[in-house]
Amino acid sequence: MTVYNFAAGPATLPDPVIKQIQSELPSLQGTGMSILEISHRSAMFDDIINTAEQDIRDLMHVPDNYHVLFFQGGGTGQFAAVPLNLATNHHRIALLDSGHWASRAGDEATNLGVSVDTLASTKADHYQKLPQSNQSLSSSEYDYLHVTTNNTIEGTAYHTLPTHGDVTLVGDLSSNFMAEEYNVKDFGLIFGGVQKNLGPAGVTIVIVRDDLVKPVAHIPSILNYSLFVKKNSMFNTPPVFAIYATGLVLKWLKQQGGLAEIERLNRKKSALLYDYLDDSKLFTNYIKKSDRSLTNVPFTTDNADLDNQVIQAAADTGLMNLKGHRSVGGLRASLYNAMPIEGVQALVDFLHNFEQKN
Ligand SMILES: *Cc1c(COP(=O)(O)O)cnc(C)c1O
Repeated sequence: MTVYNFAAGPATLPDPVIKQIQSELPSLQGTGMSILEISHRSAMFDDIINTAEQDIRDLMHVPDNYHVLFFQGGGTGQFAAVPLNLATNHHRIALLDSGHWASRAGDEATNLGVSVDTLASTKADHYQKLPQSNQSLSSSEYDYLHVTTNNTIEGTAYHTLPTHGDVTLVGDLSSNFMAEEYNVKDFGLIFGGVQKNLGPAGVTIVIVRDDLVKPVAHIPSILNYSLFVKKNSMFNTPPVFAIYATGLVLKWLKQQGGLAEIERLNRKKSALLYDYLDDSKLFTNYIKKSDRSLTNVPFTTDNADLDNQVIQAAADTGLMNLKGHRSVGGLRASLYNAMPIEGVQALVDFLHNFEQKN
């Protein structure tokens, strides 16, 4: 049975990458040592981390005045690191409340003593569309505007970035990192854990403009951008295996033709599912059409028992992890970069057959 994993994260990885990890695991590049046991201070790992950085720069066309850093602690760690490093002038930030993760980011900044102005929220609409700010924002008021480009749980995405005046834009790209093209120059800082689109759990990528990296006193070193810049992301032991595996996924992305091609494929994959759902009399996706995510597609029969039957029957045929997040319920198919179009077709065929029988 062919298995397709629709999990929201950690998530499906490309088959060739899993096979390469398997074949190289006992002995990396003929050294007789595993990636699991080599030193982060070895020349071999230096090459791995520098190549990964260069491949990120190539794939995203990262301008030279931006740093590419590797952290641990996930997106959640960055919910603390970003305000600690960047909210140092006004101690005030703006936020668009587009869902669970945006609101968690706001809570963490608040915990750290930063004032958070929620410019707009679509909570009352169950986050089925995106909040847009119509205020004119000024850097004389805010240190930055926090935007969640893709809302993993709710299934929305900013395909066009919100207006932000001259205020620095901070993007949480956790769930559409390199799944959809953005212009790095439009952001002061981008972050995301790799476990949705780019690798196994354990490493968080931060891309930050040079002028925003300043020495900041009294913050934990492990979250300090200026220290990580100085130490080339090796202030302490980095997640060696996760960076290695992410490096393999980056090579795979290049072989697929880069991000323009990946986005084209992701549009095609998600359209296949959305078109079916829009025609279906049993299943519905409630997201406003222009705001729909390319990577996370929630849908439901509006009957919790029937939803559970679908999830179970799908798993019996190898279509795994279709349960929606507990806050939304229903089903959710995550269609990250490594999900082949054949997997989406298999899902649509399965849903169609289920609908015929019910
Ligand atoms: C998964 C996710 C997070 C949290 O990431 P962790 O790596 O689990 O801390 C934050 N933001 C978004 C948009 C996410 O999808």
